[in-house]
Amino acid sequence: MQMNDETLDAIQAVYGVENWSAGYFDINSKGHITVRPANGDPRYVDLKELVDHLISTRKLHLPLLIRFPQLLSSQLRTLSNAYQHAIAEYGYQGQHYPVFPMKVNPRREVVEEFLRDSQRCMVGLECGSKAELYAALAQDQSPQSLLLCNGFKDETFIRAALLGVRAGKRVTIVVEKLNELSMVVKLAQQTGICPWIGLRAKLYSRGSGKWASSGGDSAKFGLTTSELIDCVRMLKDARLDSNLKLLHFHIGSQITDIKRVKNAMKEAARVYAKLRQMGTNIEFMDIGGGLGVDYDGSQTRFDSSVNYTVQEFANDVVYVVKSVCDDENVPHPNIVTESGRFMTAFHTVFITSIRDEIETFADDKPEISVDADDPQVIIELKDLVDHINGRNYVEYYHDALEHKDELHTQFNLGLISLEDRAKGEVLYWEVCARALNESVEDDFSDEEFEQLKRILAQKYLCNFSLFRSAPDSWAIRQLFPIVPIHRLNEPPKDFATLVDVTCDSDGKIDRFVDLKDVKQTLELHPWSDGQTYYLGIFLTGAYQEVMGSYHNLFGQPDEAHIVIDHDGRYHITKLIIGSRISDMLEFARYDKGQLSDAYRRQVNQRVDAGMLTREAADQLVHEYEALANRTTYLE
Ligand SMILES: *Cc1c(COP(=O)(O)O)cnc(C)c1O
Repeated sequence: MQMNDETLDAIQAVYGVENWSAGYFDINSKGHITVRPANGDPRYVDLKELVDHLISTRKLHLPLLIRFPQLLSSQLRTLSNAYQHAIAEYGYQGQHYPVFPMKVNPRREVVEEFLRDSQRCMVGLECGSKAELYAALAQDQSPQSLLLCNGFKDETFIRAALLGVRAGKRVTIVVEKLNELSMVVKLAQQTGICPWIGLRAKLYSRGSGKWASSGGDSAKFGLTTSELIDCVRMLKDARLDSNLKLLHFHIGSQITDIKRVKNAMKEAARVYAKLRQMGTNIEFMDIGGGLGVDYDGSQTRFDSSVNYTVQEFANDVVYVVKSVCDDENVPHPNIVTESGRFMTAFHTVFITSIRDEIETFADDKPEISVDADDPQVIIELKDLVDHINGRNYVEYYHDALEHKDELHTQFNLGLISLEDRAKGEVLYWEVCARALNESVEDDFSDEEFEQLKRILAQKYLCNFSLFRSAPDSWAIRQLFPIVPIHRLNEPPKDFATLVDVTCDSDGKIDRFVDLKDVKQTLELHPWSDGQTYYLGIFLTGAYQEVMGSYHNLFGQPDEAHIVIDHDGRYHITKLIIGSRISDMLEFARYDKGQLSDAYRRQVNQRVDAGMLTREAADQLVHEYEALANRTTYLE
């Protein structure tokens, strides 16, 4: 089916692709989702054709994680350009140093992709643990770029940082606690090597959204004002004050409201200025993360949205810091950003498919025949089914509710049979379905019919684990855009919620992005058994992979890395086969050999008891062992 503008508009209104896509995702004339390497780039991949190819030719299985490394560098460029632009516009004297916080997505391919731009954008790394630091120490980054060490540190962590200093890196220990500074000073005195030092300040200002408590008085991290002063004194006493280079703060991730950013900047810039006036030589102001992603495309202060653009964010940061510094007569510091979410969210698309339907009620029962011998309540329900229409549907729906209660009361009193009850229930659901249809035609919506819509919505079983692949949807009720990646040239007429393949009743998605509200059902196309219907979960590149867990021992999905070259053709630069059953067993500390020995013992007992032949037992053991190489997901 070819697409006309009207259909496209209708589809856009349903899924809002253009609102949250940041120019990377679109719908083509075949009704397929496309992916571009950068906003405004004429080149694109047809996601549906790509998935078909990966499955049929490259033998990958669903669920599938598709990684587009070009979207990482594109986001980095966007971030860097926004700051360059603000710096030029306001005549700011400092420079921008983007840093990638590894906790957002520590995957090697992600880190390496950012560092490819290290020379040009001066991009560096931030690590918050020894393991992250270990990986970071071996990376090639440009000599001016920063390697920041945040998080709580022990002596081993600090010694690891010194290895970086010896290798010529600009390692900066960001002090979270006073005792960390004591350790740094002690080691510096022992070894004669001292890294750069940063101080993490606890701001009074708070962010907004889910992570508002990362800022403010009771924040987990950072030094109080008097601790900041103690640190400066301690460094002076140790004659290490020239190593104090950076002031850091982080008021939380996904800040939804730009006003909070401005307030925090005002406060932080004053702290910086006062520290300078105390005779320090701080050159870098590290503003942390918090730059949000508009997951629902609504451009509001809602948790899954943001009410600003990256350019506004950068403008406000640069402008506020400049104003305060000029007012206080101190030099403009270089601005360090740790915008991990913004840099990574867009670059992966997760693909799953509908496997089955979970029945709430039978919607495909043949016509029920009712005659005068049937109980009165059934005759009345049948009458509602036959005569419901656009004028009476609200009233008829209410009548049906009463009849259903009556039906169950009579059943409990032993007045009607199980067959009668079944008949009555089918008729009741029929009235509900017709009432809902009428209300949709009528554009009528109130709480009662919204609830009915939810109850009548199809429940589709999708082949994935929410806990592995989109954990924030469960953990913090974050919204991710979910869209079928094909059939977008026909209007979706059904309403559905999604459930995953874990045995956890929390493994479901029943909140979806919407411009005005949160949708409780997702519009989908009619689906029938055995049909291929791919759903894309978008904007999952930040936090989801690393926070995901192996609930029910569902493992890593198969993965493909896609790069689009100059002539617009795509290349599969990497294929990674997901977890096998054996991988997950190992994770849970089983031993494959032991398991198979134990299984063999059990069938051998059956052989000894004369209930199995030796051959059959060998065959069973063989099958058991072969099973270990299968995927953990539905095949
Ligand atoms: C988590 C974290 C970040 C990343 O924040 P985003 O909002 O994802 O950009 C940056 N800095 C610090 C200190 C963090 O803890």
